[in-house]
Amino acid sequence: MSEPQRVSNFLRTIIRDDLDSGRVAEVVTRFPPEPNGYLHIGHAKSICVNFGLAREFGGRCNLRFDDTNPSTEDVEYVEAIVRDVAWLGFAWDGEVRYASDYFATLYAWAQHLVRNGLAYVCELDPEQMRAYRGTLTEPGRDSPYRDRPAEQSLELLERMRAGAIEEGRMTLRARIDMGSPNLNLRDPVLYRIKRAPHHRTGAAWCIYPSYDFAHGQEDAIEGITHSICTLEFEDHRPLYDWFIGQLPVPARPRQYEFARLNLSYTVTSKRKLRQLVEEGHVSGWDDPRMPTLSGLRRRGVTPAAIRDFVERTGVSRADGLVDLGMLEYCIRDDLDKNAPRAMCVLRPLKVTLLDYPADRIEQLTAPAHPARPELGQRTLPFGRELWIDREDFRTEANKDFKRLVAGGEVRLRNAYVIRADEVVRDAHGEIVELRCSHDPATLGRNPSDGRKVKGVIHWVEASQALDCEVRLYDRLFLDPQPDAGERSFTDNLNPHSLAVLRGCKAEPGLAALPAGAGCQFEREGYFCRDPEAGDGGAVVFNRTIGLRDTWSGSAAAKG
Ligand code: ATP
Ligand code: MG
Repeated sequence: MSEPQRVSNFLRTIIRDDLDSGRVAEVVTRFPPEPNGYLHIGHAKSICVNFGLAREFGGRCNLRFDDTNPSTEDVEYVEAIVRDVAWLGFAWDGEVRYASDYFATLYAWAQHLVRNGLAYVCELDPEQMRAYRGTLTEPGRDSPYRDRPAEQSLELLERMRAGAIEEGRMTLRARIDMGSPNLNLRDPVLYRIKRAPHHRTGAAWCIYPSYDFAHGQEDAIEGITHSICTLEFEDHRPLYDWFIGQLPVPARPRQYEFARLNLSYTVTSKRKLRQLVEEGHVSGWDDPRMPTLSGLRRRGVTPAAIRDFVERTGVSRADGLVDLGMLEYCIRDDLDKNAPRAMCVLRPLKVTLLDYPADRIEQLTAPAHPARPELGQRTLPFGRELWIDREDFRTEANKDFKRLVAGGEVRLRNAYVIRADEVVRDAHGEIVELRCSHDPATLGRNPSDGRKVKGVIHWVEASQALDCEVRLYDRLFLDPQPDAGERSFTDNLNPHSLAVLRGCKAEPGLAALPAGAGCQFEREGYFCRDPEAGDGGAVVFNRTIGLRDTWSGSAAAKG
């Protein structure tokens, strides 16, 4: 796997120092997704950081599902996440792991806290609990249940676990400090009752540990040396350290936080992405406009482009907004180097070469990639009837239009120079055909009499053309920060984020392109074959990205 160029960052420095000083013998990290949605580009950052650091320093990285909330989680998400991490090019240490593997240990540790007077069963309802909690400026108040005897809490906890207590009636809370300036230390909830069946443990449990109680202890159980997470957990670190200090854990992980990836024109929140799916703004989690890994994959973005992008965004502790143009640059850069070339006519206009025999098909050849001869040659049938793009012909034009004009000449890419002799229109005046002639002496060379033919256009031979549907995708949102401000992010959707073109004509060799594989349609952009068929079983190509950046700077007017 090709590795992007590395620059140093504070995590690399910490790990190198820890290895050099012998504080740790081996670096062990983990990626801990909650299976309540599909992974998005923000998660890709966390994956590349965690798996990347482990690989770079010869350590290990676990994939561990944080499956502590059965009411929002599902195996569909587990499967999609496993697939996406592997697709990105990373291998986890051993089997996939689950927080639910540790439910018994976590429960025993909760009992341990109760026995030591460090946790209690509380009967405040959620609203009361909020009122007792205080605010950032006011301390909280002790729960009336805070000083109940440990024996009583132990017994109630056992009854909670046995299913004898109604949902919402009781919680287990840590007994820390209701006056702490850090709200996370104001007797946080460790266990709550939830009767939803769990996708792995079924009905075995009806109480589930909170994320805060589970997370650090799981890291300790797995011997994670560097618990890397995003900055919103910085204020939780004192709580994690408190648990680790009070419990008989086998190891002491250290947590390091970095700034999450925010990308312009993009929402990176599973909740909001789910809303886009559920409200039908997109066709599903893997709609090619979605910033999910499955959407990016279906769009034709490669894992190498995503890894390159993540590396370029760096790792820091300062929040920022990364320009979507940077991701697009990485996608283009990768595809330019690797995507084989092909021709596809998106808006077909018939060309008939009156001076070319009707029964003749020539096999022309062209390189699969102009800069990579090792990718070989492709075969292009050529004959009397061809397709060119409507936008490549005008009845009249000034000399800035370097394509085909009535009476003028143009080169067909990888083939001959042709001249437009006659324009055929239908009853409505619509141009339906061009009658042309070709210069047989111009295959691979300029006209011998010194005529200058400047324009080059793409084309496809008609009798063997592959009929296809082409989906042109654009940015999903119009506003660089769709979820900032007053309006709902769904009010910012770009109404032109998808245009479907049917009856497109591609060179026949593309019929063999496997689903998911990409290519460059010369002069049009980068495309990839969709795994599903379109209308009437047509082959579908998704536009990954245009050849040039049409959004930034002066090119914004779409040249
Ligand atoms: P979301 O906000 O989309 O629901 P999450 O953080 O709740 O994301 P998790 O499944 O808990 O989703 O995330 C797994 C890991 O991915 C966490 O360690 C989290 O910090 C990290 N992560 C999530 N979003 C980003 C992001 N935008 N940039 C970097 N890391 C992220
Ligand atoms: Mg989370």
